[in-house]
Amino acid sequence: MSIEDRLGAARARAAAERKRQGLPELAEAALGVIGGSGLYEIEGLRDVVEVRPVTPYGRPSDALVVGSLGATRVAFLPRHGRGHRLTPSEVPYRANIYALRLLGVGSVVAVSACGSMREEIRPRDVVVPDQFIDRTKDRPATLYGAGVVVHVAFADPFCPVLSARLADEAERVFAASDAALAGTPAARRVHRGGTYLTMEGPQFSTRAESHLYRSWGVSVIGMTGLPEAKLAREAELCYGMLAYATDYDCWRAAEEAVTVAQVVANLGANIASAKEILRGLTATGVPARDHCGCASALAGAVQTDPSAVDWDRVRELALLLGGELPLD
Ligand SMILES: [Zn+2]
Repeated sequence: MSIEDRLGAARARAAAERKRQGLPELAEAALGVIGGSGLYEIEGLRDVVEVRPVTPYGRPSDALVVGSLGATRVAFLPRHGRGHRLTPSEVPYRANIYALRLLGVGSVVAVSACGSMREEIRPRDVVVPDQFIDRTKDRPATLYGAGVVVHVAFADPFCPVLSARLADEAERVFAASDAALAGTPAARRVHRGGTYLTMEGPQFSTRAESHLYRSWGVSVIGMTGLPEAKLAREAELCYGMLAYATDYDCWRAAEEAVTVAQVVANLGANIASAKEILRGLTATGVPARDHCGCASALAGAVQTDPSAVDWDRVRELALLLGGELPLD
């Protein structure tokens, strides 16, 4: 099956399931945005609908807001819920990814507030990571199981095409906003590539852990990138991240103590820049998905023999598995 046919079949399965759930036609989106700490809404969306889809994994973090931004239909989901009600361990990652897939989303941009683990990644800089280290321990990390075993490749956990586009947009935004600061330490920088370590939280790391992670080459530390990116891969979605540094993690013996006010100010500046980058990304539409491989992540990844598969489970997950395990 060609990639175009595969993408078309996936869109058709999503449309059928939306219809079955009685969701409005306006609920279809191409781009999903998962907002992290501080990012609970996007201004300027047109033709907006708010939907609460049902998933096999329960309810998503909140209602999804679908609207047009530039040339793109966008589905926005605040990861921690509006009002920031959910801890990183409580976020229903599986329901969130399934819901985005149900709305027809092919590409997901995750926005994440992080601690910097490197001197050169300064607060307010953005990292577009290309690797993960998983230090979570209390989160369901697969969409499958219970009768269908799936092993997807995850050596390169981020979509290279979407990530490159995000970094390009970030550089454009920073070049414009920080033009007067160019060449000075105050000018914000975009870091292409880097390793994002996901810790369980909700507490921040100890100093010993922080030094250990630095010795592993970690760039930024956060609490939500995983299992989100694993599930996006399992749902055959392109996944890219804007990881914003709000502060240096506790490894750095600061000359002066970091104040909460500074961290909050950095968070606010980061959210403003994330919105600008999203406006740039959506002005011309999301990158094509036919060359990166994300949309065929499940090809050959189902390990369970068809004679041993739990077909009730396949029926329940037909939106995701229909391309690999057809029901008719
Ligand atoms: Zn991709």
